[in-house]
Amino acid sequence: MEIITFGCRLNACESGIIQEFAAQLGVDDYTLINTCAVTAEAERKLRQTIRKLYKENNEIKIILTGCASELHPQEYLQMDGVVGVVSNKFKLSKQEYEKYATGKSNGEVATPTKVRGFLQVQNGCDKRCTYCVVRLTRGPNVSFDKDDIVSRARELLHKGYKEIFLTGVNVSSYGRDKSTCEDLSTLIRYILQEVPELTRLGLSSLDPADINDELIDVITSEEHVLPHIHESIQSGDNMILKRMMRSHTREQVIETNHKILEKRPNVIFGADIIVGFPTETDEMFENTMKLLEEGNITLLHAFPFSKRPNTPAARMPSVNKKTVQARVHEIHDLSKNILKSKFAEYVGKQVRIIAEEEYDGKTDTFLPVISSTKLTVGKIYDFYCDSYDENAILGKVIER
Ligand code: SF4
Repeated sequence: MEIITFGCRLNACESGIIQEFAAQLGVDDYTLINTCAVTAEAERKLRQTIRKLYKENNEIKIILTGCASELHPQEYLQMDGVVGVVSNKFKLSKQEYEKYATGKSNGEVATPTKVRGFLQVQNGCDKRCTYCVVRLTRGPNVSFDKDDIVSRARELLHKGYKEIFLTGVNVSSYGRDKSTCEDLSTLIRYILQEVPELTRLGLSSLDPADINDELIDVITSEEHVLPHIHESIQSGDNMILKRMMRSHTREQVIETNHKILEKRPNVIFGADIIVGFPTETDEMFENTMKLLEEGNITLLHAFPFSKRPNTPAARMPSVNKKTVQARVHEIHDLSKNILKSKFAEYVGKQVRIIAEEEYDGKTDTFLPVISSTKLTVGKIYDFYCDSYDENAILGKVIER
């Protein structure tokens, strides 16, 4: 079965699991699209893809799952080529795909060389961010069993993945729904204790409000936790954060990141930022720009605000579209300069990288590198940083 995946790492993780179900059941002549509803743009691209697939083959049979088809199942079922919608609730239930099975299967899943595996540890979210539809499509926070997580981590390593990223809708709220005093920090320690052969454990996006001292201690003391922390910051202005119903402040982000850098100076921070949230003034936007430097944010994902149906933010007065676009350009330009300065700091240094393509890879801190030496995908190398351009650090493998 061909699977097209939109959206987040969680969707990528789930697509991998569905692909295995399809191979085991023999679901061949269907195309599944794992959809995303985080922005209006994601849904526009989905509709465009469905139309293009149908135009190319009017006998195509498309199954939809994920947040967009969860939000508007009837609307998508009316589109040509769409034959079924699998709700998020049953997305990872193998039975759900039996009705599409032809029974002819070899159980084999042809996948590219395995570099980074995604391990889902929870689903859903109990927070109430005013711009978010994900909490509407994925339901409340549900933390998975830690021993089940450990056995799936072993499975991923057994399949050849070199590093594993913990993922979910809101990873840092792990354990909140449990009566036992578990949280993300205890889970990480448990995984590393039970799976000592796991030497590269990464974390997907963390909510700054959930990065407590225990989690800081794990991030800074466990050498097998990759030194790259991505935070769903969304804005650098406290009034906007309040209107988003985020539970952190800009000061908290700055303090947390400083605390982490004091104990583990090579950590690289990434952040998600929404630009042009309703009522955002130039001054408020300036506070977000300033936070990139004050919070040591090197890797930026900045998106224009997208009005989502049935969210409180959709009823707030919006910022002029041209202004939003200008701000997105401005913050991307700033982020490019910050990234280049960080690349410059690596010149002359020896670092460890993982190869993602024949000449491309990532440092342990998740910075992109381009190698003049040919690489074996999935292999870990010692790497000498010669120079850089605006997209990556340039260098070569240190032969031993
Ligand atoms: S933390 Fe906020 S943005 Fe993230 S899934 Fe929950 S409600 Fe949505």
